[in-house]
Amino acid sequence: MDHPTLHPTRGSGLQAEPVLTDELLHRMDRPGPRYTSYPTADRFVEAFTAEHFLQALAQRHDMGGVGGAGAPLSLYIHVPFCESVCYYCACNKIVTRDHGRAAAYLDALEHEMALAADALGERVQVSQLHFGGGTPTFLSDEELSRLMAAIRVRFELLPKGEFSIEIDPRTVTRQRLEHLRALGLNRVSFGVQDFDAQVQQAVHRIQPFEQVEALMRDARELGFESINVDLIYGLPRQTPESFERTVRQVAGLRPDRIAMYGYAHLPTRFKPQRRIEPAELPSGGQRVGMLAQALAGFVSHGYQYIGMDHFALPDDPLAQAKRQGRLHRNFQGYSTQPDCDLIGLGVSAISRVGPCYSQNAKTLDEYYDALRSNQLPVVRGLALTRDDLVRRAVIMSIMCHGRLSYESVALAHLIDVRSYFAAEIEALEDLARDGLVMLSADGLEVTPLGWYFVRSVAMVFDRHLRADRNRERFSKVI
Ligand code: SF4
Repeated sequence: MDHPTLHPTRGSGLQAEPVLTDELLHRMDRPGPRYTSYPTADRFVEAFTAEHFLQALAQRHDMGGVGGAGAPLSLYIHVPFCESVCYYCACNKIVTRDHGRAAAYLDALEHEMALAADALGERVQVSQLHFGGGTPTFLSDEELSRLMAAIRVRFELLPKGEFSIEIDPRTVTRQRLEHLRALGLNRVSFGVQDFDAQVQQAVHRIQPFEQVEALMRDARELGFESINVDLIYGLPRQTPESFERTVRQVAGLRPDRIAMYGYAHLPTRFKPQRRIEPAELPSGGQRVGMLAQALAGFVSHGYQYIGMDHFALPDDPLAQAKRQGRLHRNFQGYSTQPDCDLIGLGVSAISRVGPCYSQNAKTLDEYYDALRSNQLPVVRGLALTRDDLVRRAVIMSIMCHGRLSYESVALAHLIDVRSYFAAEIEALEDLARDGLVMLSADGLEVTPLGWYFVRSVAMVFDRHLRADRNRERFSKVI
């Protein structure tokens, strides 16, 4: 099957410039982490407890956290409820139509927020706030007002901060968007996935194009600064032709950012996926076709490719940050905000504070139980070793900047990089032969072609992954 060539071959010379071919896409189509953290969350251990997390918070209070004294925080709030289930779902959610359940959850969230804020000290500044789920807009306007008020009591939201919310288009109206804007939220992310009616039916998520189009127009008129759209390829009944239509429709709506994910069919792990008919899933070849078309399609519609799963309009701050080498990566994906500590609140939420990660209980019962005992609901986490910290820096440099300077790593971590990473540098030679990286005496640089497989480059430095035989736990690289 022929697909658009993203990087034209050189017209002359001994060696043609590597291009994105089906063969390469197939070969690179293997499971791998998305590196929103390193080590990845599956490495967290139960030996890390609420006590350890409290110590990390107290230490931040004493030291000033990432970025020096008084550095602002990122805040993530998880709202787990959804009114109906999407069959591709792999999120931590509770499907219910009983909106009465939200009140008890908000009580618990406020309690958790109070415990965390007490440990952090007086009204710490927040530069990023994100509501995710589940479906944050499962909460009523009054409940969202209550939650925002509680946040403002405990934290100082900075005037130029990025305050975002995930929107399920089936749960909002223009009036609801107006309310979100009035609460101070300035970014929205629409879960679109696919506009094809057949596909929407197969995944149990019906939201016509016209509905999303109207909401996006409303969001712009209301002054939301950034609109993101999430898409998924590899869903049942999707074909390269149908997905190409969705890509064209999405590009026509001109969202500032687009995040595109490959569907990972893991029905033994994610129960809703058992309702997906395997025979309706696109073949590996079709998946590759969809990916290649989408990559070429968004670029041809004027979008800049940011990294493994993100596109942005060229004047969007994310695209500017990519050009200027100022990208960062956190649990929400790529970001323009400098590295900062993250406090995750709510069931299953993950925090990152200094050299620690911590994760909350995944079930509501456990989450409520811990808070009833006046404990932070932490059930696992990780205190990073020195090796983890070196590798985190290396992996984030590759994922965000597409390069690695041996000298910078040597200076920051006091290691001899070439001997410390001798095995990794040798392993990179295969990727260099495929034209995905350029190696030199000073470091490595991801090529334009290599950006499409940037997490495969990062995976070379993942010590935990190397030791892991069960790699099926991750979604595929493409
Ligand atoms: S995909 Fe999102 S909206 Fe759908 S069930 Fe999962 S968490 Fe809920």
